[in-house]
Amino acid sequence: PRPIKVLESTIKETQDERAKIATGDCVVHWFKRDLRTSDNVSLSKASKKAKEGGVPLVCMFIVSPQDYEAHLTSAPRVDFELRTLEVMKADLQELSIPLYVATVEKRKEVPKHVLEKCQEWGAKHVFCNTEYEVDELRREAKLTKLCLENGIDFNAAHDDVVVPPGALMSGSGNQYSVYSPWYRAWVKHLHDHPALLAEAESISPNPASAKETFQSMFSTPIPRAPPNKSLSDEERTRYAHYWPAGEHEAESRLHRFINEKINKYKETRNFPAANSTSLLSVHFSSGTLAARTAIRIARSANNAQKLDAGKAGIVGYISELAWRDFYKHVLCHWPFVCMGKPFKYEYADIEWEYDNEAFARWCEGKTGFPIVDAAMRQLNEMGYMHNRCRMIVGSFLAKDLLIDWRLGEKYFMTHLVDGDFASNNGGWGFSASTGVDPQPYFRIFNPFLQSEKFDEGGEYIRKWVPELKGVEGKAVHDPYSRGAGKQAEKAGYPRPMVEHKEVRQRALERYKKGLGRG
Ligand code: FAD
Repeated sequence: PRPIKVLESTIKETQDERAKIATGDCVVHWFKRDLRTSDNVSLSKASKKAKEGGVPLVCMFIVSPQDYEAHLTSAPRVDFELRTLEVMKADLQELSIPLYVATVEKRKEVPKHVLEKCQEWGAKHVFCNTEYEVDELRREAKLTKLCLENGIDFNAAHDDVVVPPGALMSGSGNQYSVYSPWYRAWVKHLHDHPALLAEAESISPNPASAKETFQSMFSTPIPRAPPNKSLSDEERTRYAHYWPAGEHEAESRLHRFINEKINKYKETRNFPAANSTSLLSVHFSSGTLAARTAIRIARSANNAQKLDAGKAGIVGYISELAWRDFYKHVLCHWPFVCMGKPFKYEYADIEWEYDNEAFARWCEGKTGFPIVDAAMRQLNEMGYMHNRCRMIVGSFLAKDLLIDWRLGEKYFMTHLVDGDFASNNGGWGFSASTGVDPQPYFRIFNPFLQSEKFDEGGEYIRKWVPELKGVEGKAVHDPYSRGAGKQAEKAGYPRPMVEHKEVRQRALERYKKGLGRG
């Protein structure tokens, strides 16, 4: 059975017994990728339970170096989370709610640690929001039982997604594998279940006495990043500049985007130099903002009640956020996609190149294709890349270089500040044509044409590739064949590492051959 089903049935089966458990001395909320105090389903439920029982709420967060390894979490992402914890700790402190943060070296010790802490604090109810990766779902199913054996009620809620996985089924009763019909079903489901977009109730303050009871938690500082995820001082300053942490920042970014940019989102979202997207992905993936909140607020700026009607910019924005849910549903239904397997088995037989030098040039942004290099350098500098460019570099790696897309997927996860397993896997599957609802394999982006179309004036390239700053006009898209070769060479900019027309042909043949064998 799928891990999500196992968790759901474990929760259902144990419901009656768990309901009998008395309140205990406190109620625990376990923060994971939901790092905010407002509009948080599980936190809100935990707060309500604590208030009803007249006991304090205690929050916890576990730093797990092995989880970071398993999820390929990037160092900038770990840094973002730890900076967010500082913000959250201060906000919770205002409400006399303690935040316990501990580093647990071994991944398998995490459930035991949660249990031991609950026992130490006399907590009888633990709440958390579900994470949808396989190991996490399995861990939570086990934890539900382990807690129950020890007289503790473990509750897992849906919060990271807007529509719970499994709620949308095609006519034949299966999970959709194509976005458009899935999106129509998603919109309909939200119209039929408006509570899914409602704001979770605000949390209540603890009695002031909690400050004394849990004194040590209030005074213990947030731990530092584990050594293999540490940033240098320069990097820390840089990432803090690009990505200020915490839910207040997320909220104000969302409001600025809705007030200033959303109406033009549909026409402008594909142009990387336009700075026209919300730049909220880091907040959605760390949970400093819920997708539900963004959709609700965006919708209130629309004249239409329907999610798919009214202002095109708002409809477009909501439909992009829906992709995030789509890929999480896919992950829950076909968990093998996050185990390095292509969605369609026939794509497992494509013969990839494993050319370390070529891969290194792609990683460093030294391919000689300016739009690809600009994008990779943006990623390496900011931990972020514009969506159009993610598709361009993905297609370039998988098709022009014929390098196994999984290496690109991994490089992204270990460098993105917004790394999200399901969306990243979905995006790579789309670009390499091996995933769910992908580009057809014969659609191979021409990086020069993509560049001319989406960075017409070359601003994005000049910003990220300083060697080409002085190259004027269209030559910036392909300096060596458009008359700026000497200038590019003098500045140390490399020649294109492959001939696009030739490698396009090679990719078509290789894909066809792989599919033929499959
Ligand atoms: P906006 O245009 O403002 O979009 C709003 C939100 O909608 C985003 O923040 C994001 O949460 C969601 N969204 C938009 N497009 C997509 C999409 N195609 N798939 C899923 N969600 C989407 N997104 C991640 O959050 N994490 C990843 O690790 C990730 N890896 C990707 C890898 C590849 C190869 C590709 C092609 C796309 C990937 N995306 C990923 C999706 C997308 O590129 C980013 O969400 C987007 O660029 C973030 O910028 P933004 O917040 O300004 O987006």
